[in-house]
Formats: sequence, C-alpha cells, structure tokens
Amino acid sequence: MKTTVLAICCGLVLAASAQAGPWCQAARDVVEPRVPDQFCRVTLNQQELGGEIDRRVRNLVDQNYMAVDLDGKWLNHFRNRTDRGDRQYVYYGIGKVLDAGSLLAAYTGDPKVAARTQYILDELVRSRDADGYLGFWNVEPENRQDHINWILHEQEYINLALVRNYRCTGNPQSLAHAKIMGNYILKTFPTPRNPCYDAGQICTAGLPEGMLELYRVTGDRRYLDFAADVPHGNNRGEIQLASLRTWEQDFSRRPCHVYVMLARCYAQTELYRLTGEQNLLDMSQFMRNELLKKGEGGMLVTGSCSEGEHFTYNQNGRGAIGESCVTAYVLRWIDSLLRLEGDLRYGDLLERTIYNALFAANSPDGRWIRYFTPFSGDRQYDTRDYFCCCGNYRRAMAELPQKVYYRTPENGIALNLFTNAKKAFDVKGQTVTLVQETAYPNDGDVKLTFFSEKPVAMAFRFRTPRWCERITLRVNNEAPVIVDPLEQKLGCYVLDRTWKDGDVVRLAMPMAWWLLRGRAVQDGRVAFLRGPIVYCIGKDQNAGLLAKCPEPRNLVIDPPSLGEPIRDDSIRPNGLKAAARAWLNPDGSGEKVDVTLTEFIDPSGQEVYFRVPNLADTSPARLMDDEIVSWPNEFVNAHVLKALYGPKATGNLRAMFEIRGDVVADLAADYVNPDGKAGVKAEFRDATGGRWSFSNCKNRGLLSTAEAGDVKPLNSQFKAFGSPLGYAYGLENQRDELGFVSNYAPSNRQEEAWRNHYTEQMFDQVLSVAERNEFLYTHPISDTESYNVFRWTPSADVPKKEVTLSGTIFSNLGNGVELRVIRWSDGARHEVLGTFNTKDLTVGKCGTAEFVLRLPASEVGKHIDFVLHNAGSHSCDATALKIRAYIHVERSAAQTDVTETVQAKFHNRLVTPLGPYAELFSAAAPGGEKTLKVKLNYWREGVVKYLELPQDAALDLR
Ligand SMILES: [Zn+2]
Repeated sequence: MKTTVLAICCGLVLAASAQAGPWCQAARDVVEPRVPDQFCRVTLNQQELGGEIDRRVRNLVDQNYMAVDLDGKWLNHFRNRTDRGDRQYVYYGIGKVLDAGSLLAAYTGDPKVAARTQYILDELVRSRDADGYLGFWNVEPENRQDHINWILHEQEYINLALVRNYRCTGNPQSLAHAKIMGNYILKTFPTPRNPCYDAGQICTAGLPEGMLELYRVTGDRRYLDFAADVPHGNNRGEIQLASLRTWEQDFSRRPCHVYVMLARCYAQTELYRLTGEQNLLDMSQFMRNELLKKGEGGMLVTGSCSEGEHFTYNQNGRGAIGESCVTAYVLRWIDSLLRLEGDLRYGDLLERTIYNALFAANSPDGRWIRYFTPFSGDRQYDTRDYFCCCGNYRRAMAELPQKVYYRTPENGIALNLFTNAKKAFDVKGQTVTLVQETAYPNDGDVKLTFFSEKPVAMAFRFRTPRWCERITLRVNNEAPVIVDPLEQKLGCYVLDRTWKDGDVVRLAMPMAWWLLRGRAVQDGRVAFLRGPIVYCIGKDQNAGLLAKCPEPRNLVIDPPSLGEPIRDDSIRPNGLKAAARAWLNPDGSGEKVDVTLTEFIDPSGQEVYFRVPNLADTSPARLMDDEIVSWPNEFVNAHVLKALYGPKATGNLRAMFEIRGDVVADLAADYVNPDGKAGVKAEFRDATGGRWSFSNCKNRGLLSTAEAGDVKPLNSQFKAFGSPLGYAYGLENQRDELGFVSNYAPSNRQEEAWRNHYTEQMFDQVLSVAERNEFLYTHPISDTESYNVFRWTPSADVPKKEVTLSGTIFSNLGNGVELRVIRWSDGARHEVLGTFNTKDLTVGKCGTAEFVLRLPASEVGKHIDFVLHNAGSHSCDATALKIRAYIHVERSAAQTDVTETVQAKFHNRLVTPLGPYAELFSAAAPGGEKTLKVKLNYWREGVVKYLELPQDAALDLR
C-alpha cells in the first residue's frame, strides 16, 4: 500500500498548485471574499492521493457512479414528466448526481467519467423548457409546480451542480445554463405574498448554497441578495421560514431536521465569507455547541448524528440513525468552520466521520449507499440509488480530496488527513513537493518527505489527533520531540523552519486500543476504538456467538483480552480485525466466549457499545471521554417563559409567577366522566353555576364561523375506537375519525398500547403524580379538519368581574396541537384572544404551551371557546389540557410583564447581557430596587426554575 501512490506518481511531472489572484479564491471566482479563510482549500487529484480515502473514492466512481441507471432512475423523469399525481415527497436528486460527477471527473481525470457527467448535463438541459423550467412534471398555472413539492429542491441542486461543473471544467456553457436555472428560480420563487405559496411542502435545503456559488462566479448581486435576504424554509416546522441573515433556531422546536439545519449553517458560513456579518455564525455556534459540547453533545461515536432525520441527544444507535445527508453536511459544514477558524481540532471529527459514518454508509465494494447507518442492529442499503442520501453521499465522497491539506496565508501548508499522497505546492514561487507515506488508518506512523530545489522557509502544520496519547516527532536525525495532542493550540503542531530537499519528518502516533465512555443511553458501556476507527461486532464473524447472545450490547468484553488487530481482507483490502474474550452474562460471570471485532464499515455490524467488567479500571486500554465532544459549553437549554420587572421580591419568588385567586371554572375538576353509561351529553357545571359543553366541529375554517349544522355535540353513545380510557365522549358512528375526550384514570378496559401511549410514554414523564389530576386527557384530532371545542359559559355573575384565564397544554410531538381561545361577545360576534401551539416548546416527550389571558370586567363575553385542533397533518395528537378561570386574582404590585423584551434579547446563551434595565424596559415605577424576575424552562431536563436578577445584571445561567 505504502508504495502504490509513489509508483503512480513518480513518473509524472506534477505542476505546483498555483496561487494566482487574491488569497483563497476558488477556481473561476470573480468575487473576492471579504473574510479571508485561515486555511484555504487544496484539491488533490487521483494522481496525487492514495491510501484508503482514494481507494474508497475510486470504488464509488467505478461501482456506483459509472454503474447506476442514469436514464431509468433520473433522466427519464425529467424527459417524460409523468410524475404528477402523488404530490408528496417526489424527489430524484439529479443535481446532486451531476455535482458529484463534475468533481469525480476532475478527480479521476478519466474521460469516461467526464463524458458521463456531460451526458447528465446535456440531457437535463435538453429537457428544459424555453422559459428555463426544469422539472419532473409539467408546468402548471402560475408556476405552481415549483411551489408544491420538491421540484424546486431539484432545481436548487441543479443550479449548484451547474456552477460547480463550470468551476471544474471551465466550460462557459455550464455557467450559461447555471444562470438560466438561477434566473428561473428567482422568477418563480414562491414568496409569502405569492398566493400559490405553500411553504408547508417545499424544501429549500440547497437553495442558498447554490445561489451563493452562482454569485461568486458571476458577481451578479441578485443571486447574493436572494440567498441572503429572501425567507426560505417552510412552515411545517422542519425549519423556520427565515432569511439566512435572520435565521437562528434552537432544537427545542420540533421537529428539527438536521440535514436542513446543517445545510443552512453551511450556507451562512459561505455568506459570512462574502459579507463579514458576524451574526451569520450564531447558528453555527449554536449547532456546534449542541453537537460537540463537553460530555453532552449530540454527536454520535460514528461521527454523525440524527435519529429519524431529526436532532437527538440520546445516543441511541438503533433504527434510523445517522442519515447520510446529515453525515455529508457534517463534513461540509465542519470543514467550512475549520477553514474559517484555522482550527484543526475539527479535523479530529472529520476523520472520525470519514472512517466510520461515511465509509460505513457505502458497501465495501462501493456499489450501494445507505440512507441510515445505525450502530446497533441491522443496516440496510437504499437500493433506489436516487433520492437525497445517495446523492449527498456521492457529493461528500467527491469532496474528500479537498480535506487532506490546506494552505495558510503565510504560504504555509497544513496537514489534516493522514494518507498516502504526493502533492506539489507553490511556496513563495518555489515548488515544494510533499510526499506522505503511511499505512493510516491501520497504523499511525507517517513519513513526510519534502522535495524542493532550493531551501525554503515555511511553516508546516500537522494535526495532532486527540485520540493519540503522545506523538513522537522526528525531523531528519534531530532529537525526537514528544508532542501531547491535548496541549496543542488549535489542534496542530507547527514546524516553522527552512526546508531543504529531502528533509524527512516522521510522526509516530501509536494506535493503541482505547475505550470511549458511553453517554446517555450508552451510559455504563464503552465503545472500542483504535485511532479514529470504531470497532464493532458483526454477524459475519460472530455467527455462533450471536446465536447465543441476541443482544450483543450486553456482552462484557474483557479489555486485557483484546488482541492486536490482524489483517483481514474480507471487508476491505488490508482491513483489520481483532480477537477478544467476553462474558455472556451481564454481571461478568460464567462462560467466557471468543468475539471478533471488525472495523465499523463491516456491513454485518450489529453493535459498537459493550460492557466491561469494571469501568473504573479498563487497563491496559485507556478509558476516555469522547475527545470530539469536548467543546466548552456556550449555551443553556432554557427558555424564558415569563419575565417580570419591578421592585425586589419580598416573599416567595415562585409565587409571583403563579395565579392566585378564586377558581370559578376548572376543566379537569369540573369534568364528569360518563363512566361507561351511554347517552350522556358532554355537558356539566362549573363551580359557580356556569356550564361547560363539548362539541366537535368539522368546518374547514375558523371554528367561530361554523354553521350551526357543522357543530356536533358530543355524547357517550359509543366507546371511541381505540380509547383505553373507559367510555369516552365522541360522535356516534364516527369510530375514531372525530375527536373525543375522556378521563385520565386508567380502567380495566384499557387497551395496553393506548395506556402506554397516553400515560407511561408521555404524560407520566412530564407530569408529577400530584399534577396529573389537574389535566383532562383528550385525543382531539384524527382528522385535521376537525376541531374539538370546550365551551365555557360563565354564570351570570362572573362576567361582571375581572376574569383571568390560564391554561397549560401538553401534546405528543406531532406537528403541533394548537389551542385557540375565542370570546363570543354574543351569539354572533367573536374574536380570537390567542393562539397557542405546542410545537414551540418541548418538555420531555411532549410539546407544551402555556397561556394567561386577563379579561377586564364586562369583557368576558357570553361564552369562551377553547378550540383544540391539529396545526399539521399528524394523525395522533394525544393532549393533556388544563384550563382554569379565576376571579379576585392577586396582582404583584408594580411588576411589569417584560417577557417579550427579555425573550428577544435572550439567545439561550449562558450569559446574555441585557444592558441597563431602565432603557430596556422603559421607566418603571419610582423608588426601591428594581429587579428582573424570570421563569425559565430547562427544556431538555424538563425543569422549571425561577431567578431574580439585581438591577442591570446580565441574565447569567451558568
Ligand atoms: Zn437524506
């Protein structure tokens, strides 16, 4: 292996990579970035790169890119446009294929790869309409075809791919096609003012990325402005609808589609390069924090993240784990941060991701790509070849040759990935050829030889991987230097010297076994690593063992029994496997068995986390916390629920946030359970002689405009299908298609699954035992056109007083149950007092919302309707509902509600400077010390806390 790359390279005359033009401009750039990168990309071609990375890229080219059915899987859809019909989630991802193809053609220099890429481009352009439309179904009135589904998603990556083809080939035709695509998108892009806009469906993941690329090669500001200022996204909750400049989001909002979020973070780093607006890095900082913060980040041991495409902290390895799109964008975005910050600690993550999540997402022969790459249980291939993940996977692989070396502004070279390579660099006008020889990732010995006609002064940096305990560095025959990777600033060691022809640098990075301490659901278990490679137990080499031990994560592996890896070519050439001994009993007793550990790329891999007899002493293997998940925490997982400003609290701080008064109506307490009796109307009295009545409305619009005939009273004629909760109120003959309400108390007639669903898996996790009876448990929506109405008609006396309505909702994490509070002044006039959606705030496994509404005396109206419906399309939204009405409410003296102001200032950071309170909250009542009191929800822990801050203090949550 070591000699392969040299054999390829030695006969060739290598041109030094010229550094023409301003620092760090990409090929064909006409725009100069405003923020110079600390590290600048260097792209290697196949002649220059060797080792496992090159082998993997070539495998993918030969077995996948050159083998897939371009016509059948992609191009025919664009030629024939027969896809209309099912509007949901139709997507092929041809732009991603073309983008990868352009890079792979440039990498291999193979005319066959180039011809295939040109074929995609030509055929795609041939299917284009005169007005620039490209897509897989026909144009519709007002270009609605672009606004419905994922046609635009195709176009945004086609746009990107055409620019990158131009970058790779220099072919002006490609740029001309890119402009046509870009202009078409500009012309037809749906905006919130566009009546066709349906932001619930479109996906804009690659839109700004492509437009910024187009700006960089054209200088046409329309593309920049579109990328930067036009709100992209959707309103389905995947990400918020916002422009790149204003886009900031946290994970407490569900769902959080990691691919889309990382793509936006990446685009923001690109925009930052062009404009220098510091706030564009806010979202990246937040994402980095949530993924990499010490001991808590959501990054997985394999170097990817996501569960079911969404963000997760739980470290679960089973199921829809590590979407390949996410893996691809982790690499792209982290590489972007690495270049901006010049910090090679990011490289530790890059190599973990590359050798584990990325390579394992492809069959060893290169043919098949995975959508998800779990590390517990079976892995599947996505045999479609098309769709998002296969496309983004190819792109990520095609970009790997850009991550080996970087240039530094002072003419230096930075080495990130250890691999066989031979690259000629232009250093101050001189050619310096650097030859890297290594068996990496099999061992950590790296030999670097510098060739230069004349001696040249240059700072050479190499990454100091933190999995390595100590690096022995030797230059020529000089005394060795011991380098402690944990001590190195920015994750690298700098050799600043005058380099002579034939100078040799040797790095010895011993690859001993080390154990990575599991976190969250992997607590008490360890993963076995050697260097950056995670090892696993796979079916192919452990068939007998797995027959005895179906749950391999319960195996207890004895660290001293771990053997040195031996060569095993069954998965990859020069692959490794290792033998160890393990107990089958979780308590480490009884029979000991042989296990074989294989590299994580093993397609039969089943598990990577195991037990050890004693976590306190795992010698001789070193036990370490994940060195990648080690960033200092910068943010807090909290929301400001309420903020009050005024005189210092004298009594109980918590009481200042509570509503205390006389309860006149309490939905859960007043509720009467039909308790199995049939024909009971859903009507009962409140505490003061007022009335509750429940009904269901199927009106396709705002409830309060419902025709009388649309409102159906609920009664207990039937047992709602699937309801475990005794006889429930519902509509006759509607099975579970319309809503019902039911009490919480479990009964003998419960159906197990529903009990779990309602209680153990959801509300029992967020509500203390004492609180549970304060809620009415209901399942409002199985049909998004249906609304459940809880109507409160106060007794005649109550509306003469000031009434305070307060409520709390919990629902499962669907698209968001929404509660609207509507006041009916009389039988005909009504107004919406507030809309509260449970998707905005998460507590444990539930979304939640709280509200307080104060209704002055005589403004209470005739009825108050609490209208519960599903804001999205999720078919199951079990809900716990607390609604109370109070009179004679005690008000905290002179406290001003400043919730909105504080929320606007607060960015979930550990310390948020608020500035002078008097300016921030305007003048408050005179006299006395003014403090800020905040009620905070720590959403990951599900804990509510109360704080009082002295005058003008920062909101300090450390
Ligand atoms: Zn995907």
